Amino acid sequence: MAFHRFKALETVLSRVPVNVTMPSNKVSEFFGENVFGIDAMREYLSEEAFKSVMSAMELGTQIDRKMADQVAASMKAWANSKGATHYTHWFQPLTGATAEKHDAFFEPTENGRAIERFGGTQLVQQESDASSFPNGGIRNTFEARGYTAWDPTSPAFVMGKTLCIPTIFVSYTGEALDFKTPLLKALHVLDNAAVDVCQYFDKNVTKVIATLGWEQEYFLVDEALYNARPDLAMTGRALFGHSPAKGQQLEDHYFGSIPDRATSFMRDFEVESLKLGIPVKTRHNEVAPNQFECAPVFEECNLAVDHNQLLMDVMEKVARRHNFRVLLHEKPFAGVNGSGKHNNWSMSTNTGKNLLSPGKTPKTNLQFLTFFINTVKAVHDNADLLRASIASANNDHRLGANEAPPAIMSVFLGTQLSNVLDELETKVKTGKMSPDEKTALKLGVGKIPDILLDNTDRNRTSPFAFTGNKFEFRAVGSSANCAGPMTVLNAIVAEQLVNFKKEVDQLMKKNVEKDEAIFQVLRKCIIDSKKIRFEGNGYGEEWVKEAAKRGLSNIKTTPLALSAFVSPKTIDIFTRNGIMNEREQHARYDIYLETYTKKIQIESRVMADLSLNHIIPTAIKYQSSLIENVKGLKEIMNASDFKKNASIQLGMITEISDHINFIKTNVDAMTEARKSANKVTDVKKQAALYCDKVKAYFESIRYHVDKLELIIDDESWPLPKYREILFTK
Ligand code: ADP
Ligand code: MG
Repeated sequence: MAFHRFKALETVLSRVPVNVTMPSNKVSEFFGENVFGIDAMREYLSEEAFKSVMSAMELGTQIDRKMADQVAASMKAWANSKGATHYTHWFQPLTGATAEKHDAFFEPTENGRAIERFGGTQLVQQESDASSFPNGGIRNTFEARGYTAWDPTSPAFVMGKTLCIPTIFVSYTGEALDFKTPLLKALHVLDNAAVDVCQYFDKNVTKVIATLGWEQEYFLVDEALYNARPDLAMTGRALFGHSPAKGQQLEDHYFGSIPDRATSFMRDFEVESLKLGIPVKTRHNEVAPNQFECAPVFEECNLAVDHNQLLMDVMEKVARRHNFRVLLHEKPFAGVNGSGKHNNWSMSTNTGKNLLSPGKTPKTNLQFLTFFINTVKAVHDNADLLRASIASANNDHRLGANEAPPAIMSVFLGTQLSNVLDELETKVKTGKMSPDEKTALKLGVGKIPDILLDNTDRNRTSPFAFTGNKFEFRAVGSSANCAGPMTVLNAIVAEQLVNFKKEVDQLMKKNVEKDEAIFQVLRKCIIDSKKIRFEGNGYGEEWVKEAAKRGLSNIKTTPLALSAFVSPKTIDIFTRNGIMNEREQHARYDIYLETYTKKIQIESRVMADLSLNHIIPTAIKYQSSLIENVKGLKEIMNASDFKKNASIQLGMITEISDHINFIKTNVDAMTEARKSANKVTDVKKQAALYCDKVKAYFESIRYHVDKLELIIDDESWPLPKYREILFTK
């Protein structure tokens, strides 16, 4: 075998950290140097072109062809100065990764000269034969054309020798085939809805952006060990492996010293990220051994999403230089903490106000309460859709495990804000309130931020928690594209804000004074969304029962969770707000189901291969050596001595046979289940079969393999063990 465990371990022991030098001690000297950002644009663009791009970024205006030619020429000149020879439209197809198609800036002609290939047309729009990307039936095979179109709100950047231009990816008929298109639309809808509501409080607000600060968790594994584990290499997670004796019980890894090789990797990828304008900041170990986290300063949502996609890419590239592999899988190791990607989310105005930060004055407090309560109401009304937005085969292993948010959606507010909401509910009268009563209500909120921000009132078990000046959506998986959940969150909050405004306006038309009208509608929202609020331990069994009593959904598997994408309610919200039409939503639903099926299919195949080619032969070999031993004992001993001395070995021989039998029988049955699922053409039914009939074998097969790992001679076990993968530095 090419990568036996011991060979891999020897390789690991001989590793030395890669020497990484910082380009400069001052981050400001290299931050964003590979980005065609404001500074570079100012330097390379004419004033007219600069204004045109800025207006496209800030106001969403069109850039005309002539101007686009100018921008393309300048962008190319800048990229050339950074050593770029190629350019690509960079986009986010629904596979979850990013895609690129590289073209040279120049094209050789027949007479040996080169002609310019990159102009305004190439910058703005590219036709792409993207029939290999998932499209959920939107593009028929005879109409394989899709196109990518420039998103000027996210700056171009140079990676290696390529100028990357962030783009959307749509079908020839204009339907979204990517993550970015619906996100941009949802952000636009939120902007309008939030500005309208802000007008009640501050006439100067003309633009609201959603902000996102993600926290990326990941595991680092040595490349040699990774290569010796076909399951890790092919599925991103260990399908087998017994928990190590020294496990996570001690939790001594948390914030522990980061080993040298990992530190060197982190420095390297942080420098690369900073050069790309990704404002990475914090770095510490997570709860599990060899698990780490990286979090940047928050940014505008679309940019933050691009930066996260880019960061995952950079991480994987840089890791190879350090002989590491990054595992972005949500649950690479059973029994060990999984990885998430907390999405910290808020809204911010052009006047510099964070709408989810309680203020110091009664006016800003009421504005805060308005956005705060409307968000809670939006989550309440669309809990199943939010659940769908984080559903994946990978995340199924993590959600509801004892260290990750449950699959039940709930919102944590903290004691103080819960009290404020309770107070609002009881004190807001349906009759007229006195000005003093209103001011008292508003002032009650003013004391909140300091208390919350000091970290004492946090609940880490909630899938959706308020953390002082933002909500933290914790159920998002580590390998996910944040755009999925962010599209949903921004869309549902926008929808709720529109409804809220309608109700307030109606009351005002009936001559109810503004503040009073706002209070009344907020009170209604509080009452209507009560059941989604939960302050207790989200990991406990108690909560599962309590949630069921409240009538909250607890959707455990992806095929079921995804249905919310095509519920009449979702279709209505997305269609009415112009985010996605029904066809696009159905296409997306199909793609997600197909992706689910493929993942389980691959895992099942790898599991079968490993069982039959690695595990069973190893078990048989070891069993044969036991048989040899028993035969030898029989030869040299009398009957009673033999009985005494060979009983353990005889027991082990049958035990091994039992495990082998179980594994072989179940692998065969699983293969049959796969075969019959493969015959089903309906994607929904197929995904359900993979979930209920194929995946159903995983746990028991694994159980028996892991038992064999404990019995069989360590010398002959072929796969690196958990303790080696997780504790080798
Ligand atoms: P945790 O306690 O969950 O580890 P951290 O303090 O590490 O939280 O992370 C907080 C994250 O929240 C950071 O990524 C930060 O950028 C982000 N954040 C802070 N304020 C906002 C905001 N207004 N909008 C969005 N994200 C924010
Ligand atoms: Mg967090």
